[in-house]
Amino acid sequence: MKVLWAPWRMGYILSNDKNNGCIFCPGKDRDGDEERLILSVNRHTLVLMNRFPYNNGHLLVAPVKHVSGLEQLNNKETLDLLLMVRKTVEILKEVMNPEGFNVGLNLGAVAGAGMEEHMHFHIVPRWKGDTNFMTVLGDVRVIPEHIRNTYEKLLPHYREPH
Ligand SMILES: [Zn+2]
Repeated sequence: MKVLWAPWRMGYILSNDKNNGCIFCPGKDRDGDEERLILSVNRHTLVLMNRFPYNNGHLLVAPVKHVSGLEQLNNKETLDLLLMVRKTVEILKEVMNPEGFNVGLNLGAVAGAGMEEHMHFHIVPRWKGDTNFMTVLGDVRVIPEHIRNTYEKLLPHYREPH
């Protein structure tokens, strides 16, 4: 089986990161959200775009709490996380019209987690015959323009109640 979410895809640290090098800790300052490709932050859950996506629209949904596993979340945090996974799938369906999804968790480095200390769901929209987006793009170090475009398209949907 092909490894879908290889650790190298997450092998980056934002140079302007103020949250101890953890891209999944939203911090208190919301001004940098666009730069960090954060689509949504509420009390318990955040959604951001993967800078090294498998496919266009590859999103990450994480608890606000810096934890490595589901067992460290209480019921409310777990429910909120899963509701946001559901909302994210709904938004991607609406905006990108995919034919399917891969939704999953890599828990622990041995399972392929690139940032194992802060757990996160991967949500990858799939189309028939799609190819690995980053292979097509090559080894880019800057955020390609179309990732920004996708961000702009998705953002208003996170402001609407679902
Ligand atoms: Zn964190």
